[in-house]
Amino acid sequence: MPLKIPSARVDWVNTAFLLILSLLAVVAAPIHLVRHGIDAFTAGLFVFYVIATGMSITLGYHRLFSHLSFQAKWPVRLFTLVFGACAFENSVLNWASDHRRHHKHTDHDDDPYNIKEGFLWAHIGWILFKVTPEPPLDNVADLRKDRLVMLQHRTDKLIALVVGLLLPTALGWWHGGAEGAMAGFLVVGALRVFVVQQCTFFINSLCHTIGRQPYSTDCSARDSALMAFLTFGEGYHNYHHRFQHDYRNGVKPWSFDPTKWAIWCLERLGLVSRLRRVPDHQIVLAEMQEARRRVEQRMSEINQAGPGVCEKALRAIHSIEEALADAYHELEAAVARKAEIPRQTLDRWQRQTRELMDRLVALEIVPAG
Ligand SMILES: [Zn+2]
Ligand SMILES: [Zn+2]
Repeated sequence: MPLKIPSARVDWVNTAFLLILSLLAVVAAPIHLVRHGIDAFTAGLFVFYVIATGMSITLGYHRLFSHLSFQAKWPVRLFTLVFGACAFENSVLNWASDHRRHHKHTDHDDDPYNIKEGFLWAHIGWILFKVTPEPPLDNVADLRKDRLVMLQHRTDKLIALVVGLLLPTALGWWHGGAEGAMAGFLVVGALRVFVVQQCTFFINSLCHTIGRQPYSTDCSARDSALMAFLTFGEGYHNYHHRFQHDYRNGVKPWSFDPTKWAIWCLERLGLVSRLRRVPDHQIVLAEMQEARRRVEQRMSEINQAGPGVCEKALRAIHSIEEALADAYHELEAAVARKAEIPRQTLDRWQRQTRELMDRLVALEIVPAG
């Protein structure tokens, strides 16, 4: 059956831009690199722009402006607004409005990048098609009070063009003449925008598709260390959807979350403050609650299957249920007493919960006899 595209709904400006960008990034830039190689200046500028624009999206657009997970002084806001615009992902006001609706309506019709509409829709389709009527920007009143945000909202395309494309081209010209200018435009401009955009798009598609769901199965968001590596730490998306105001996405000290580390360093420099953290015991309680819910679900599946399930499997699932309930009540009682719970104890409970979940997944419910 031929693929039917609703042409009246196509956003031709976005589609043409992304098409030209993709051709420049995946055809023209590689040809230039094969023919001319890459010098240290262009490579350094490319790395700087990837980090500056990528982190302006994760640290600025996402954790600062969309979730208010910390407060930032004007130099941090200005930097992330300028370099965030250079990712060509719209103004922060539009971005945050879409993102707040994503969290409010995850996996439902009003979620702009609803994964239930398909992987490609969540990844890029939602940008290529217009939504009519266009949703109002009625959930970003707080951001409208920030004069820098409003200035960026009026000028984001100009900033993107000048700082995101013309500046690297001009710097390339200054360093290496016409060939340098071409490298600046194709590699630091087009290829870099393509790479950063794909990393952002992965958060809406792959981070709702691959990985574990230790904190909640209420929505499709998942935790994946691989995705964290590709998205400056945003891949711990199950945690993020459960505790969206935490400035961390990778909550363990060793979780790969460069955005979290950058925010922590900026706090040491006095440039950001009021970092919001979910207390450790609440995180473990959430994981235990989710584990107990899954055991209950498995038990009801078994009960629905009727009699005839092998005794050994039933005993195993009951022992998992009891172990989880004991740990949960012990932790709940300690929290109620306001007792100091050592970090190692919380880690042990969390490890135990994950081991019990692995046992539950591995458990084969076979018929008796
Ligand atoms: Zn999400
Ligand atoms: Zn978010």
